[in-house]
Amino acid sequence: MINDTIAAIATAVGEGSIAVVRVSGPDAVANVEAIFSSNEKLTEAASHTVHYGYIVDRKTREKVEEVLVTVMRAPRSFTMEDVVEISTHGGVIAVKRVMDLLLESDIRLAEPGEFTKRAFLNGRIDLSQAEAVIDLIRSKSERAFSVALKQVQGNLSKQIEEQRYTLLETMAHIEVNIDYPEHDVESMTSAFIREKCSSVMDAIEKLLKTANEGKILREGIVTAIVGRPNVGKSSLLNALAKESKAIVTDIPGTTRDVIEEFITINGIPLKLLDTAGIRDTADVVEKIGVERSKNALEEADLVILVLNQNEPLHEDDIQLMEQIKSRQVIVVLNKMDLPQNLNMDQIESRFDAQHIVKMSVKEQEGLDALEEAIAAIFFTGGIEANDLTYVSNVRHIALLKKAIVSLQDAIQATEEHIPIDLIQIDVRLAWEHLGEIIGEAVGDSLIDQIFSQFCLGK
Ligand code: GDP
Ligand code: ZN
Repeated sequence: MINDTIAAIATAVGEGSIAVVRVSGPDAVANVEAIFSSNEKLTEAASHTVHYGYIVDRKTREKVEEVLVTVMRAPRSFTMEDVVEISTHGGVIAVKRVMDLLLESDIRLAEPGEFTKRAFLNGRIDLSQAEAVIDLIRSKSERAFSVALKQVQGNLSKQIEEQRYTLLETMAHIEVNIDYPEHDVESMTSAFIREKCSSVMDAIEKLLKTANEGKILREGIVTAIVGRPNVGKSSLLNALAKESKAIVTDIPGTTRDVIEEFITINGIPLKLLDTAGIRDTADVVEKIGVERSKNALEEADLVILVLNQNEPLHEDDIQLMEQIKSRQVIVVLNKMDLPQNLNMDQIESRFDAQHIVKMSVKEQEGLDALEEAIAAIFFTGGIEANDLTYVSNVRHIALLKKAIVSLQDAIQATEEHIPIDLIQIDVRLAWEHLGEIIGEAVGDSLIDQIFSQFCLGK
């Protein structure tokens, strides 16, 4: 039973002209009332009403801030407790004054994620919905945002519940027949188990298929920008990111480390990695950079190969092209403002014309074409499918996979004529793994771990 009252600043610090302090718990209304001056009494206020007044000093009754106070009574609030939200004008100082006054009472500062944790503990949302709130706070693109939003609304939970129901039915069926060792009952039961487990497995596999797309939406398409030194990789990254985090210089090999930049193109999030020129070198520092480049190349979903079309193809270019030819590649022929000295046949024989983009980063030309090429690759890949339930959380993915293993065990056991009370154990395991996704029967430490990832005020 939760019996203390918590408060936190619910809006991003320093942003916007209105800031909100959220208070939740059994004493929320009384505690705010104690520092509120108005011609209305909050303790008598109906649920979901807004009240104009002033936050005042507890002792002197001096006016501190002009505010609007919203009262939401249990259980019709996000936490299912009494919740009071105080909206103040203006930034950090006003909101901090209000917080200080609140904390003079027996209200305590909320831990990160504690409001959402209470919503979970009070049964308002399940664990997968709570985790989606984390993703929502962190989501970096609009698309990722809408995926997380769907999950908050319970899309994944609904599907998990359905599959669990099927498994529960199966377990009930097994339970009924466990005491009838006759051969035909046993084989009928086996067939039933096989059918049900397979259908649940299919459903889970479908969910898992969306997992990779979910990851891409959340973390961005990992895009490695590769090429020999001085072809214009950093300049390209800067142009795409429209800010100057990478060091752009004339000295070959200055990009020693991998630089990351998160950008969005037509709603597609990209995590750009600028890598040091991939080549053999004796220089130790350079070598570390090159090593990282190779790793970056390995983890990349998309490779942008930059070539300087002002120069003939170099042996390193050819080596690099061979290394990446089986990947999703876009070739950027840079420095089009300079005369062409590159033999196009060698490029066109290796890469699809649609994936070759002519550019001059210096003259800001060809950026649109590059953005279109990137978008084309990923939209034709069918990432847009809107009503898919995206599984985008590593914990969920791991549990779904575990459930599949248990179901496979169950199916195999029926084929090997293993007694059905033993098969029951596998079915039950699958049911439990799915239950963990929505937070049934999970331990306190996991709950704490999940909720500690929140930022304050949520
Ligand atoms: P990196 O080593 O591949 O990262 O290359 P940089 O981005 O550091 O660029 C190397 C040099 O090429 C710099 O002097 C850039 O100003 C220049 N550069 C980049 N893009 C172009 C371009 O489109 N045209 C011309 N003429 N120079 C460019
Ligand atoms: Zn560079």
